[in-house]
Amino acid sequence: MADILELSETLANQIAAGEVIERPASVVKELVENAIDAKAHTIDVLVEAAGVQLIEVIDDGLGIPADQVKAAFLRHATSKIYDKGDLFKIMTLGFRGEALPSIASVADVTLETAVPDANQGAYVQIKGNEWLTKRSGSARQGTDVTVRDLFYNTPARLKYLKSQSTEMAKIVDIINRLAFSYPQIAFHLQHNGKKVLSTPGNGNLQQVISSVYGVNNAREMLAVEAHDADFKVQGWIAKPQVTRSNRSYMTLLINGRYVKNYALTNALLKGYGTRLMVGRFPISVLQIEMDPRLVDVNVHPQKFEVRISKEGQLAALLEQMVQAAFQTVNLIPDGYENL
Ligand code: ADP
Ligand code: MG
Repeated sequence: MADILELSETLANQIAAGEVIERPASVVKELVENAIDAKAHTIDVLVEAAGVQLIEVIDDGLGIPADQVKAAFLRHATSKIYDKGDLFKIMTLGFRGEALPSIASVADVTLETAVPDANQGAYVQIKGNEWLTKRSGSARQGTDVTVRDLFYNTPARLKYLKSQSTEMAKIVDIINRLAFSYPQIAFHLQHNGKKVLSTPGNGNLQQVISSVYGVNNAREMLAVEAHDADFKVQGWIAKPQVTRSNRSYMTLLINGRYVKNYALTNALLKGYGTRLMVGRFPISVLQIEMDPRLVDVNVHPQKFEVRISKEGQLAALLEQMVQAAFQTVNLIPDGYENL
């Protein structure tokens, strides 16, 4: 047997990257979530060659103090949770402190950042965990991260990527869900210099739905809301005539986080009852708020799956909410004037 040694920082980061950074869309998700956690109002995402050549995320958030930029790239270094108590009531999208070091271990990364009212900012370049540059940078408030040559040193990962159109669709999907979660943030996505998505950032969820699915679909949706002692739900559900052939147009957001949950989407479908044809699924976007202690987001590194206490109670609330929407409404679209 060989001696037991601690993994080098670089190797540990590459192993973590294997879990967290599966494809270009994972990089986009991590960087945009960091921008959201930094309280950005506007987030620009520029992508080239479906993210393999370039992913750039520019935000106008709170920035990173120059003396902490190096720490941001350390494994398990985070400004978002400090103790065990925090882990059970997470309010930010990030908390593992793994994204930046993971990305920097498999790509060529630059980060330029400045805090509000700084005289100057900081600029760093790091590739494969090796520090190439550290100098002062622009004083513009916010953070600008570029990721080039993704997976340059992990050829197996690179080879496993699908076609550019498939990879780009996954990036668009991530941005769509985040835009639904945060209607008060303006998102702009460009691919190879062409505009893909732009949301107004004025807090109006129906307008975000219109930006993503088109104004005609957005007009065919009903506003819904419901609450009980533990949950608060609001959002938009499509009339039964606006359906798709799979569930991917049904968005569930729990405390600002896009999640996949079969039981809850089933509850929504049950609420439609016989109004939906077999094998058809409505467009829907529901924002669900609950005490963070009722949801465990620490199940999976990419955090799509969460565990919800009282899931049955929430499912019943969703089903009743949808039923009630169709009982009280004569199926004339509301909210025309807003679009
Ligand atoms: P996590 O988000 O889990 O804390 P990351 O590796 O994604 O871990 O980021 C590490 C730290 O770097 C964050 O906790 C935050 O303090 C800082 N950071 C990263 N991106 C940004 C950003 N866009 N704006 C401000 N701070 C950021
Ligand atoms: Mg993060």
